Amino acid sequence: MCSGFVKPLMLWYNTNARDLPWRRTKNPYRIWVSEIMLQQTQVEAVKSYYNRFLTALPYLCDLAVCPENELLKLWEGLGYYSRVKNMKKAAILIMEKYGGRFPDRADELRMLPGIGDYTAGAIASIAFGRAEPAVDGNVLRVYTRLTGLREDIMKEATRNKIRWRLSGLDLPDGENWGNLNQAFMDFGSSVCLANAMPLCDGCPLKDGCIAFSEGTVRELPVRSKKADRKKEQKTVLLVRDGELTALRKRPEEGLLSGMYEFPNKEGVLTEKEALNFVREHGCEPLKITPLPEAKHLFSHIEWQMTGYEIRISQRNTEVREIQKEELIFADPEEIENKYPVPSAFRAYARLLRIRIGKKPRRRENEDSDSGNTLL
Ligand code: SF4
Repeated sequence: MCSGFVKPLMLWYNTNARDLPWRRTKNPYRIWVSEIMLQQTQVEAVKSYYNRFLTALPYLCDLAVCPENELLKLWEGLGYYSRVKNMKKAAILIMEKYGGRFPDRADELRMLPGIGDYTAGAIASIAFGRAEPAVDGNVLRVYTRLTGLREDIMKEATRNKIRWRLSGLDLPDGENWGNLNQAFMDFGSSVCLANAMPLCDGCPLKDGCIAFSEGTVRELPVRSKKADRKKEQKTVLLVRDGELTALRKRPEEGLLSGMYEFPNKEGVLTEKEALNFVREHGCEPLKITPLPEAKHLFSHIEWQMTGYEIRISQRNTEVREIQKEELIFADPEEIENKYPVPSAFRAYARLLRIRIGKKPRRRENEDSDSGNTLL
């Protein structure tokens, strides 16, 4: 099937393609790393994480054997840690099942942990030149506006329909699917913008755009409302012994599994309850100070946090690491460099001048994580 928008879209891309580090390679491992990072993170923020990750783990085999703590530390600040845990599982599978050769077909790629239709299409098309659409939010937005499709893009059936329609497109001579997919991505993030603010006046596709001609740009794409985030209240405790602050390891299963956190309890604790908590952990409190409230947004949950700083005078041990109830006392440098701490706790870490989710380069937008704010 030939569609009128393909040629002008490719022409636009040929002169407007973004110069991104992962566009300078056809290495499937590197493209995979970039695609997974980009799933929940802005392009500008991903650049430095991408470089740091590949400096530490330049080859698939390095990822397959990387200890989990180091892996989580490398991913710290990107969030959604199950992504990198799945990457390691997939790397092990590729090493064992494919002898270290990256699968080049979308159906094989889809069988790997953490690789869905979009990522499989992106790797197969960009790294291997396969005729596979990679349907992400940009593609859904651009396509529904161009074609006037008024079906709910939150539904799997709609996304499958769009993927199927795209897979039937003929490309102009000399063009390839990797470029078409990347053209959609770039066009959607710089011209056909989200939030009903597309730059239609200067758009090279407007002559063939149904939404533009029918005046329905602001109505598309149709998207059913997501369920509200579940709200959870927590009390975070900064338990401090001189320069050392208590951390504990989260369970190996569930949200933020295997990472380290400041001790915390469900609900809003009174001062007395907070003091009891530290006593139960073998610490003798000296002084307690209330901390500001903060919140952090996950995809389906909102943490509403309050906290206390509790200075302690003594612990029931001389040993510094791992104690009763898994409390670990670490200095700021260790917390920054050794322990992977989720950015959900960033607001409280900042009170101690500890940077977690440290960006590899200074110019990165440390404050862009609007999901975590002191209130
Ligand atoms: S005319 Fe507007 S809505 Fe249509 S493709 Fe261009 S930017 Fe998007």
